[in-house]
Amino acid sequence: PYAVIEGCIRCKYMDCVEVCPVDCFYEGENMLVIHPDECIDCGVCEPECPAEAIVPDSDPRAEKWLPINARFATIWPNI
Ligand code: SF4
Repeated sequence: PYAVIEGCIRCKYMDCVEVCPVDCFYEGENMLVIHPDECIDCGVCEPECPAEAIVPDSDPRAEKWLPINARFATIWPNI
């Protein structure tokens, strides 16, 4: 799956939300997250993010952020 990383904090441009075919973005106060079990790895959100804050799990930066995305996707509301 793809993960939202720190560049999203206090940005939340939401462009990614518009293009995700499976609506797997969830929203907290400071950033968005992706539900890793719902993401189908299509990749269309990555180039849409103006903050370049969406990365695939193959990116080294995803390691820290995937568990955070997973945790908050079960707590925060779907958007
Ligand atoms: Fe949604 Fe595709 Fe991005 Fe996964 S990779 S969050 S399915 S737009």
